[in-house]
Amino acid sequence: MSVRVLAVGAHPDDLEILCAGALAKYAMRGDHVTMAVSTNGEVGSPNLSKNEIAEIRKSEAQAAAAVIGADFIWMNYPDEFLFSTEATRLDFLNMVRRARPDVILTHAPSDYHPDHRTTGGILWDIRVMTTVPNIKTEAPPCEKIPEIYYYDTIAGIDFVPQYYVDISESFELKKKMLACHKSQSVWLENQYHMSYLDFIEYTGRYRGLQCGVRFAECFQQSATWPKRLEAVLLP
Ligand SMILES: [Zn+2]
Repeated sequence: MSVRVLAVGAHPDDLEILCAGALAKYAMRGDHVTMAVSTNGEVGSPNLSKNEIAEIRKSEAQAAAAVIGADFIWMNYPDEFLFSTEATRLDFLNMVRRARPDVILTHAPSDYHPDHRTTGGILWDIRVMTTVPNIKTEAPPCEKIPEIYYYDTIAGIDFVPQYYVDISESFELKKKMLACHKSQSVWLENQYHMSYLDFIEYTGRYRGLQCGVRFAECFQQSATWPKRLEAVLLP
């Protein structure tokens, strides 16, 4: 039975860095993958205007999704200024209802970046609302509440893996997806002295080393209601 997967990243390129190996693996199995980006990455250039770089980054992210035949959703919130409000929650709810996922992959609560934490936080906060008919959105309610898994943080800082996915077979596709983000490779090199492809090579190898395969990505499962109650009642 095929699975519907929705991956949501805060910036164009987050998904490619943090979970594209798993997404490619889902796609290779014939599962349905949707890649959504919450902000437009408009501050990611030293010389282009916000509109110019946002347009470029949208087309780069779209091209990366096309590498694995994923559906693509661009939410277009301002880079660095995403907040959880009634309006953003309803918009995220509509986005999730459009994708109708069994599984959502998104940023972990321990992530360093506010847009990352807000993206993951809103998804967690609206998870149960996805099926509630009295909360109206353009898209109709989902039939079941999706499971949420958190993908790794940037460079694995403050992230203890619960699950690993062997991405040795899909690592070339992950590289191909990340390579679509051409505008960022120069910028990151200058700003942070970071090479994109080296970065995913190191982190993929490191996570692979931890679980005994060549390349891996890792995940944590979000708390679910029964688990949370059990933790409170039966510590
Ligand atoms: Zn990011």
